[in-house]
Amino acid sequence: MTISHGDLLYEGKAKRIFACERDGQVLVEFKNDATAFNAQKKAQLDEKGRLNCRISSCLFELLEREGIPTHYLGMAGDTWMVVQHVEVIPIEVVLRNIATGSLCRETPLPQGTTLDPALLDLYYKDDALGDPLLTDSRLALLDLISGEMRQGIEALARRVNAVLSPFFRAQALQLVDFKLELGLNAAGELLVADEISPDTCRLWDLACTDSEARILDKDRFRKDLGGVIEAYGEVCKRVQGACPTPRNCS
Ligand code: 5GP
Repeated sequence: MTISHGDLLYEGKAKRIFACERDGQVLVEFKNDATAFNAQKKAQLDEKGRLNCRISSCLFELLEREGIPTHYLGMAGDTWMVVQHVEVIPIEVVLRNIATGSLCRETPLPQGTTLDPALLDLYYKDDALGDPLLTDSRLALLDLISGEMRQGIEALARRVNAVLSPFFRAQALQLVDFKLELGLNAAGELLVADEISPDTCRLWDLACTDSEARILDKDRFRKDLGGVIEAYGEVCKRVQGACPTPRNCS
């Protein structure tokens, strides 16, 4: 990395955020740490940071080309990304195309049910509370965001799905569901922030019918299926093949 970083501003489970000498920008370092179940399960996975940084960069550039605003500015080395400084909204936005995961644990919906239109769930981003599901009435009660912002968040998440789902399908991957984090930049513009990677998306190999072998995302780690990095590498290979080399911002 040629760009130098300043102070550590924040350390999350999978990334570190550093100050940057450039106004309104910060540096994100993707770590090799893997965590699941609110960090009760932890491991170090060589190459995960590099793969997620690369995959996210390609996907952010794809969104950008489709006119979807993101915090991404460019890569700055294998595991580093330059992004706009944003105020992250403390809400996790989950879009589901296929029922699985917590939706099937918490409702009687059968695994694999196609959700059309995709189901949008909002969760309050708070590790101590275990990221609880937010109903519309709880959202209003907590006064976290305005009704207008709620609509803007939903519209943005659905636009992301409308771009990513067909993109992944063209790489023989099914986008089962994904989590987005959104933020507001200095101009008050709503942007896709954080990362978009196999850590935050469920991706199934469409060429494979076996219900475990087709999993190419963090569920391999959550469920102890092995081959986590091989799966992330496969996603990276397919995504990279369809996206030009991400731009360098260092
Ligand atoms: P579920 O609610 O079924 O556990 O997750 C739905 C989708 O959102 C999955 O793609 C999952 O990876 C993602 N997701 C939900 N919460 C988190 C989280 O706290 N961290 C990460 N990395 N992904 C999450």
